[in-house]
Amino acid sequence: MRYCDNCGQKLADDSKFCPNCGKRFSSSNQENNTTVIICAIVGLLFPLIGAILYYVFKNSDIKAAKTANTCAWIGFLVQLLIFLI
Ligand SMILES: [Zn+2]
Repeated sequence: MRYCDNCGQKLADDSKFCPNCGKRFSSSNQENNTTVIICAIVGLLFPLIGAILYYVFKNSDIKAAKTANTCAWIGFLVQLLIFLI
């Protein structure tokens, strides 16, 4: 048994929309695509933030710059892993 995530109405397992509030439910495929897109965005943001931090700290704090650079690479590798799984 599923429940509407909008109003809590009990739903049949194959319901495509909630009979109480009318909310539509995406198929599991669309949910997976959304997850992949979110992971891709997060994975892209980590190296970006790391790269920005690297250039910000490069001139002032070499230790912080190296940490930021490492974070960027970890984010990139995590994204790769997510795509491979
Ligand atoms: Zn509902």
